[in-house]
Amino acid sequence: MINIVIFGAPGAGKGTQAQLLAEKFDFLHISTGDLLRQEVRLATPLGLRAQAIMNCGDLVGDDIVVPLLDRALRQRSTLPNPDDAVDPWDRELKGEPHRPEGCIIDGFPRTVSQAQTLEFMFSRLQRKIDCVVAIDVPRDELVRRIHERAAISGRADDTEDVIRHRIDLYDQQTQPVLDYYRVSGMLVTVDGSGEIAETNARICQTLKLVMKNKE
Ligand code: AMP
Repeated sequence: MINIVIFGAPGAGKGTQAQLLAEKFDFLHISTGDLLRQEVRLATPLGLRAQAIMNCGDLVGDDIVVPLLDRALRQRSTLPNPDDAVDPWDRELKGEPHRPEGCIIDGFPRTVSQAQTLEFMFSRLQRKIDCVVAIDVPRDELVRRIHERAAISGRADDTEDVIRHRIDLYDQQTQPVLDYYRVSGMLVTVDGSGEIAETNARICQTLKLVMKNKE
């Protein structure tokens, strides 16, 4: 079981890459953006609180996003839950829920404090982060992609102004998280300026090495 965190500014393609990796390596893909959008769609109390914040491109509070991630991580089909009397992975051996080969987290952490929270959540599940992948795309290219995306995306937070704000936030708040992981030696930066397939090949190469070292 390998646990990966993927980073990228809006327009870097982190969601697309996370999905491709999840399919290729049979990883569970947890996107905090998707979890939040689902809450908004269902108009749950958390979703109602998150909606206006997300529409402006700001970060929602940890009191909203952390419980959602915690719940997703603890779901029986994802990672073992130490509170379960029977290890869910035993159930899987008996043909019950599918056990993924790993887990890829997309959209979290976005602050150093969230990085510490994630470590705590993983340690409770007797897991640890094996690799942090940052997709690096120059700002000019991000802006070019944003023009395209704003024209076709149905997302309320995909207007040009809001996406620019989200890139600024990424630079201010998320870059320190990358420094945090760089210091711990977990960070791998991948050039994401080219085509989706090129970036994907680079990430796959990195992950194969990580998996080999873990064997
Ligand atoms: P994403 O799909 O990752 O681009 O996230 C979309 C939006 O969801 C972000 O602009 C934030 O408003 C919110 N969001 C997602 N993940 C987080 C997080 N870890 N912390 C705070 N807000 C988040």
